[in-house]
Amino acid sequence: MSEGNLLYKGKAKSVFAADDSNVLSVVFRDDITALDGLKKNTFEGKGACNAKVTAYFYPILEKNGVPTHFIKSVNETTQLVRKLKMIPLEVVVRNRAAGSLVRNYGFTEGQYLEKPIIVMDLKDDSRHDPMINDDIILALKFVTETELAEIKRLALLVNKILKENLAEKNIDLIDMKLEFGKDNEGLIRLGDEISMDSLRLWDKGEICASMDKDIYRKDKGDVMEVYRKTVERIVN
Ligand code: 5GP
Repeated sequence: MSEGNLLYKGKAKSVFAADDSNVLSVVFRDDITALDGLKKNTFEGKGACNAKVTAYFYPILEKNGVPTHFIKSVNETTQLVRKLKMIPLEVVVRNRAAGSLVRNYGFTEGQYLEKPIIVMDLKDDSRHDPMINDDIILALKFVTETELAEIKRLALLVNKILKENLAEKNIDLIDMKLEFGKDNEGLIRLGDEISMDSLRLWDKGEICASMDKDIYRKDKGDVMEVYRKTVERIVN
């Protein structure tokens, strides 16, 4: 991939122009960050692990009625995706309390939620991704009311599909972060990735038995050993 075609370098992925102007080429790098990018490392094979899980889930989501940006994998770290106009929101869906829900609101770690909770954060590292609400989203004209309802419907559908899929592998989907965008026909599609960087996964039945980026965030062990094991559990 020529650096000349580089359109955008994120914290863990790079986006390149492709031959078709409606298509982008996404490269999952081995970089990993936490604390708004203050903590940074590179682990060989990490990009391939996340790309593999993303390439596994997106076709399953499409088959189950979730429009996504995913077209196909080119190699173990590169994927072709539809170009979307990304909506600057981090859509977090939660099934059990962990992370910021415990820190900020006094839930008990691991507490089961009666129904999934959706939390929307503004995607803006310089402002530390503050929580945002419907009225602010609409006032900033990120989306219309109908589109916001569609994002929430899709987020809950993704959650249901993933939760059931992972439960079959004895993995508990605690929460996850999703990002959406609009294609050139105005259809809301799931963009970004679904991987150990964006999912919070616990080995079933155990509190905080992390199988995801919390290993890195909280210095809980060998990141690559955990990522590789999680990929094996999910994909095989
Ligand atoms: P929390 O709000 O508890 O920190 O995170 C909730 C969920 O969203 C976790 O699964 C976490 O991995 C994901 N998440 C929250 N913010 C980000 C982010 O900026 N980047 C990524 N990759 N995931 C995030």
